[in-house]
Amino acid sequence: MLSLRKLEAAGGLSLVEVPEPGSPGPGEVLVRVAATGICGTDLSVDRWTASYAGFMGKALPVTLGHETAGRIVAVGAGVDPARIGCAIVVDPAVACRRCARCREGDFIGCLDRQAVGLIRDGAFAPLLLAPDDYCYDLPDGVPLELGALAEPLSVGAHALAVGGFTVGMRIAVLGPGPIGQGVAALARHLGAAQVAVIGLKDAPRLDVLRAMGIGDCFDMAEPGAAEALAQARGEGFDLVVEAAGVPEVIDQGLALLRPQGVLVVAGMPERPASVDIMRLVKYRLEIRGASRVPPSAWQMVLKALAEAPDSFAPLVTHRFPLAQADAAFRLCHGRTPSKVLLLP
Ligand SMILES: [Zn+2]
Ligand SMILES: [Zn+2]
Repeated sequence: MLSLRKLEAAGGLSLVEVPEPGSPGPGEVLVRVAATGICGTDLSVDRWTASYAGFMGKALPVTLGHETAGRIVAVGAGVDPARIGCAIVVDPAVACRRCARCREGDFIGCLDRQAVGLIRDGAFAPLLLAPDDYCYDLPDGVPLELGALAEPLSVGAHALAVGGFTVGMRIAVLGPGPIGQGVAALARHLGAAQVAVIGLKDAPRLDVLRAMGIGDCFDMAEPGAAEALAQARGEGFDLVVEAAGVPEVIDQGLALLRPQGVLVVAGMPERPASVDIMRLVKYRLEIRGASRVPPSAWQMVLKALAEAPDSFAPLVTHRFPLAQADAAFRLCHGRTPSKVLLLP
């Protein structure tokens, strides 16, 4: 079967034929992939940035793809055969079940995660083996294609949860990439009083949000944006979510908060950030990190997708057959699209 793989410890990805996976092992299912999103992580793996070279090196060669939905076509020992035919999404954060953290039952804290699409073979392929307990049912009425959004949305849902999101909050999102867009769409769905999204030379991505009815979008490269944002800020936002992965915006995020507001950092900047500690102390602000998405965030997302599939659908802007992965990745590296799906 055709698969998009990282073959060796260097830049680039390869579309190659590999044998189909065998029968599922105990506790596993075989999934026929319907759609898989391209993530910023996949772009970093393509470029082979230092942080990925470190932990992926020993897993190569490996098939990428971790934002996926499909249907179960076979089950291994111990899995209910009634699962065959079920539409599911795959939580890629598979715990090793052997390390010290796992032995204590802290699977989220696993020290040796077997991440789908990074360590174990992923979903840029027609078939995928996954542990059944990491496959969550996609609710009836949600198209499989939208299921591929569940993983990036779960990252956003977790960021909101870490920030203590509640109905009626005023929130700002830094960075209108797919994670930031997901945070904005979820916050609106969950009842935020105001959702502002701030980008820099991000016109196409902000336009997608405007078309979804999220009106407070600011492109800081445009004249007058700073004044318009200051007006929207008013007395300060309750919660700011950083989803740009750029260290310089951390301080800008703090400046957007009201006293005692919370900044959640969901991006992963590769350089240190410089922070105005005086502001942090004076206004009693908090900075919290969000990573390692728990199952509760997935349940929140699947419920939201079931309640309002149409309000999330515009986040998918492009679809390519897997055979055209090259063109799809080139488009993503240009930072203009929202979510790009590969269809095997
Ligand atoms: Zn991802
Ligand atoms: Zn573990």
